[in-house]
Amino acid sequence: MAPTPFLNADNFIAELKAKNPAEPEYHQAVHEVIMSLAGFLEEHPKYQNAAILERICEPERIIIFRIPWMNDRGEMKVNRGFRIEMNSAIGPYKGGLRFHPTVNLGILKFLAFEQVFKNSLTTLPMGGGKGGSDFDPKGKSDNEVMRFCQSFMTELYRHIGHNTDVPAGDIGVGGREIGFLFGQYKRIVNEFTGVLTGKGLNWGGSLIRPEATGYGNVYFAQEMLKTRNESIKDKRVLVSGSGNVAQYTVEKVIELGGKVITLSDSSGYIYDPAGINKEKLKYVLYLKNIKRGRIREYADKYGVKYEEGMRPWSEKADIALPSATQNEIDEEDARTLINNGCICVSEGANMPSTPDAIQLYLDHEILFGPGKAANAGGVAVSGLEMTQNSMRLNWTREEVDNRLQMIMHSIHKTCIKYGKKDNGYVNYVDGANIGGFVKVADAMLAQGAV
Ligand code: NDP
Repeated sequence: MAPTPFLNADNFIAELKAKNPAEPEYHQAVHEVIMSLAGFLEEHPKYQNAAILERICEPERIIIFRIPWMNDRGEMKVNRGFRIEMNSAIGPYKGGLRFHPTVNLGILKFLAFEQVFKNSLTTLPMGGGKGGSDFDPKGKSDNEVMRFCQSFMTELYRHIGHNTDVPAGDIGVGGREIGFLFGQYKRIVNEFTGVLTGKGLNWGGSLIRPEATGYGNVYFAQEMLKTRNESIKDKRVLVSGSGNVAQYTVEKVIELGGKVITLSDSSGYIYDPAGINKEKLKYVLYLKNIKRGRIREYADKYGVKYEEGMRPWSEKADIALPSATQNEIDEEDARTLINNGCICVSEGANMPSTPDAIQLYLDHEILFGPGKAANAGGVAVSGLEMTQNSMRLNWTREEVDNRLQMIMHSIHKTCIKYGKKDNGYVNYVDGANIGGFVKVADAMLAQGAV
């Protein structure tokens, strides 16, 4: 028998970088997983013998395409579209679409890679994928967004299907965009199937899907806090972002008796020491989902502080729930959070903390829920939407919310199983990476050279 290949993490990453140049976010996401898995792989040589790591880092398929569309002035515009079909070992590819000017291949590969582990953790049968475009919906009319979505789907439709690949929303893709995309898909293939999730309630959507990522992250934070006999009640909470995830994070924190004191967007953040109550949250939903304005307007309306071009991490709080974008908390931010007494960081966004920031959380043994565990509630309820579509049934709000809570509880349990250290500290990064890996890797082993 050939000797077990030894995992040299440095060589592995060097080769990955050479093969995938200029994709720093992808390198970062893989590096974190390799660091968590190294010891586990040595104890379980069957995975290395079958080159599972090499295979899991190589997307099964990448589709890149042109999206021509016409703006309201009659000018022809062109954007680039992507779909990364990363891994289908445990189910159809599943993951959101992001429309944002920063979108590129490396960012989508990092998101698709994370999605594989996250989907595995949910306990539902979903593979991993991600897609999107460098299109910026900000400042575009509804008609422009519709024409763009129709053109995007005119190419994407041939690569997806309810048993093949089921996209959903992400940054810049909410209910409006999913509607336009679904309408065009249905028109082209002449079939009404659950090919997208995040659909409207009266055309195949699931109750609680819009709320799921934010609610799920708060449920996960609650589970972590419970391990230290703490709860959300009366805690001061920093939230970044003001989009889908941030909005429903705030709603759940209010319900559980916590006080959210910040929100942000890509221009700056607001600080409301009195806390964002239900009435103010209603205004945020109007401001961001209907008026499509800037968070600065919240400060104007309620007479609170607005910091242009800044992130909210310097404000004193007990809990931080980053819910905007990747790498929005760096080492200095993490140090400030910890020095200010923060006991828990739970990631609503994908990879919002840099590796140095994560290292500080771990060194200080604060509660840290990485995105692939903490924000898995969104894709979990997308999975429940797929189930309801297949059954042609709608579950009640309570039914979906109960299932979401059970799934977040189960993810937390998996993290403890694989992440608990000898001194009792739970390293949720290791827990999520190993827990997510095992199911996918075992399926790949069973399926042979795939
Ligand atoms: P939205 O588009 O609804 O909101 C995104 C928010 O983040 C906006 O407030 C936006 O501000 C801000 N933001 C975006 N890019 C940047 C940036 N480069 N710098 C600072 N702020 C930025 O997206 P979601 O709420 O859906 O997604 C937020 C995060 O959660 C993402 O990381 C996403 O991948 C992750 N996530 C989302 C899930 C979902 O179900 N929607 C599921 C799991 C994870 P502005 O409007 O100014 O751009």
